[in-house]
Amino acid sequence: MSGVVYLVGAGPGAPDLLTLRAAKLLAKADIVFHDALVHPDTVALATRAEKVPVGKRCGKHSTAQKFINKRLVDAAQTHAIVVRLKGGDPMLFGRAQEEIAALEAAGVRYEVVPGVTAALAAAAELGISLTQRGVARSVAFVTPRIAEGEPPSDWAQSMAAADAGAIYMGSGQAEQIAAALIAAGKPPTTPIAIVESASLAESHRIFATLASLPRFASQFSGPAVILLGPQFRARAQSVRNSAVEEDSVPAPRRRALNSTD
Ligand code: SAH
Repeated sequence: MSGVVYLVGAGPGAPDLLTLRAAKLLAKADIVFHDALVHPDTVALATRAEKVPVGKRCGKHSTAQKFINKRLVDAAQTHAIVVRLKGGDPMLFGRAQEEIAALEAAGVRYEVVPGVTAALAAAAELGISLTQRGVARSVAFVTPRIAEGEPPSDWAQSMAAADAGAIYMGSGQAEQIAAALIAAGKPPTTPIAIVESASLAESHRIFATLASLPRFASQFSGPAVILLGPQFRARAQSVRNSAVEEDSVPAPRRRALNSTD
């Protein structure tokens, strides 16, 4: 048997933010390896597949990446359609490249199916464009997280050079993030928005400034992205940098977002 491995983006959380291609593949899949962050209703679309959680959560790896790589290669010897289901988009902070390298080395065919990444789901939820015309012509996608053995990164410089940006996997590092960005030249008054669990019913968001980020970040326990840019100014000012938490979405929209109702 030489099966095909599909690296599939599950989107940010809401099961109906899955592409049609992904849904069709899940329905046909023989085996699905899924991240912990993927919504159970999305995994359940794989009606005939063996389902294997590989337990990655918020960037922490409870199943070693090398072991996942090996399992994908092995599964392609015994299953025709192997799906590796990842949160958001597989190609953005998703370690897809390591899996692709392992599949290529083993001569296993693969295909990548994109998904809606967290930053874009967060922008959608806020109704604030990441590339607001005349204000933000560049957007940086960054993470301050550096895994063991990786070289140091210039993430703060990249972020400081861009008009707007999205910070992934920043939870628990708010102080370091604010300090690094201010040191890299971003004004302390730079407006930010923190969006937790974008696309899900339990989503919430806070508008603040870079200097006040550490005060608010502890309120987030779920997956959250930090968005930065001048386009967030109006709302950041309207809450005067205080710990005002906006309700995530009005009640009717909440229901619509909760696709499983
Ligand atoms: N490949 C994923 C990112 C994986 S890294 C994507 O494209 O979205 C995991 C990080 O993504 C989390 O630490 C958090 O910063 C962000 N994230 C994932 N889901 C999210 C959600 N629903 N709302 C806000 N941030 C989310």
